[in-house]
Amino acid sequence: MKISDARNILNENKGKHLYDVIIPSTGNKVPFRPMTVGHHKSIAKMAINDEANFDKFLCALILELSDEQVGMAKINELDKIAILYQVKQYNSSEPLKVNLTCPECEHEFMIVPTDKDMIKTDIELSYIKTKEIEGVKFEVCIGMPSIQDNMFYADFCEVRAKKFENDKDDESLSKLGIFIASYEMYLMCIRSISINGKIIDDFLDASVEERISFLDELSEGLIVVSEISDFMNKKYKEYGYEMACPSCKYKFDNVFTAEGFFF
Ligand SMILES: [Zn+2]
Repeated sequence: MKISDARNILNENKGKHLYDVIIPSTGNKVPFRPMTVGHHKSIAKMAINDEANFDKFLCALILELSDEQVGMAKINELDKIAILYQVKQYNSSEPLKVNLTCPECEHEFMIVPTDKDMIKTDIELSYIKTKEIEGVKFEVCIGMPSIQDNMFYADFCEVRAKKFENDKDDESLSKLGIFIASYEMYLMCIRSISINGKIIDDFLDASVEERISFLDELSEGLIVVSEISDFMNKKYKEYGYEMACPSCKYKFDNVFTAEGFFF
């Protein structure tokens, strides 16, 4: 048999070893293909050489293994963590372990997360905030940003930081650029807005730039950035759990990350 013949057999076989991955926010099951040795090698290479693009690589991996049946515009960061957990669990012969370091005494230890910890379908992913400003009623629905939003913002912050880096005259300008970018990321958590009971139909279809410029024109009292960031942080916390260091008994919140599952 030649390598090309063997490749043909492998290709024919590809569709037969699918496994279901649960997308927590929708509850849908999506068939995924197994990871190849090439995928594992690429993950290691990306993590060592190109930290900045590692996250994008993990997103590309999800698209590839699911034959693009996972819509990146719809799933959020918490979904992504759960998906990568399931992919790693299926593709690894050993039970999945996560290495942790105690923030208090630096003791290193290992935990084995369970499906129950990871595939949580009961997390409230959005909330509604209402506000009345000078007789005008606003209703804003705030939700977790999608993977696509996150990827857009990673690029956005990078471009902005680079642009300010070139203006070396004023270091505070660079900080300002990053601050504005992170502020706008929170604005992107807005899933819908209605004014006096009427929903703005084309808000989510508008380009990111258009959405931001529209939000900039709204009264600044409408959107409390710290409130949105609190909401997001709380959700991430729910995605981890409280740990007690086995050595010093110090208690801390461990929050799972996508990267944590591969290294
Ligand atoms: Zn400790």
